Amino acid sequence: MEIIKKEAYNLANKGSRTFGKQIKAIFFDLDNTLIPTRRGDEKACQKLSDILQTKYGLTSEIADETTTNFLQAFRSCPDNTQTTLDSWRSYLWTQSLPQNLKYLNETIYKQWLQLRYKYVTIPTEYEVLLRNLRKQYRIGLITNGPSNAQWEKVNKLNIRSLFDCILVSGDLPWEKPNPNIFYMACNLLNVHPNESIMIGDKMETDIQGGKAANFAATIHISHMSSKPDYLIEKLGQLLYVPKPSSIEEISSNDKRRHSLSSGMSGNGNSCLSGYNNSQNNGGQQHAQRRNLYHSKSLTFDQRFNKARKVGDIKRVSSFQDSDSNSENSSDSIYS
Ligand SMILES: [Mg+2]
Repeated sequence: MEIIKKEAYNLANKGSRTFGKQIKAIFFDLDNTLIPTRRGDEKACQKLSDILQTKYGLTSEIADETTTNFLQAFRSCPDNTQTTLDSWRSYLWTQSLPQNLKYLNETIYKQWLQLRYKYVTIPTEYEVLLRNLRKQYRIGLITNGPSNAQWEKVNKLNIRSLFDCILVSGDLPWEKPNPNIFYMACNLLNVHPNESIMIGDKMETDIQGGKAANFAATIHISHMSSKPDYLIEKLGQLLYVPKPSSIEEISSNDKRRHSLSSGMSGNGNSCLSGYNNSQNNGGQQHAQRRNLYHSKSLTFDQRFNKARKVGDIKRVSSFQDSDSNSENSSDSIYS
């Protein structure tokens, strides 16, 4: 989330030079952009699982299962308009707790709520950042989610005074990425979309919406803990990725800078040309690799690693970690 500070200042301060127009307003998403909702909720449930074990004698398996079930149910349906937030959440705890502890639903709910707002809080540096930005720009918050649940966060975190306008989709006919919610925000702050920047963590709501509304710029906060070495838009661009032997020589810090453009310089460093060269110059290596790949006595990883030693194969970064850890994992309606 450090990117908020750097990019918001960089882009906003460049103003007319970058966009050919003056930037007047910066809009932020709330969940997982300004506050760590997903991580905070997980921490609160972990802590509550400890309490269920130490204070109420649950085994670690049952305590974890209880809090996991609650979190899953809460994320998929954080509010029920037929009742209050408190009674809805107490009900969800009743559903999640084991039979002999169901009577504790309200006590557990209160403990969870306390823990939640201990961990889901706006970092002081972001508060300072918003106050500083507000000296130069109009600052808005555009958040998707049920009205009660989102306003509870705004009020409990005491962040209302940091913004010139706050829009919660639950109060409106639209939610991000519908451009109307962005237009409404601009109207409230008396700015044109092309004088505005949108910052958020969800490509499909914050970024696509900001672009659909013709904002001057959009900034994506990426929470991926493991990032690919290269990003391409079409599979055809694979032709221009440097050949694996060149990749090995690039330090991890330089990989992104090296990027696709260097592969396009016409030096033949493409995956396919590398493959062809290895076929022309090392048919034997190719045969060795082929045999290893078809060896049924080895696991895929063993075959891959052995084949890699023989020739010029490079494992592409796995997305596994990022998928499981990403704040973008979408079992929540908040965005
Ligand atoms: Mg978000």
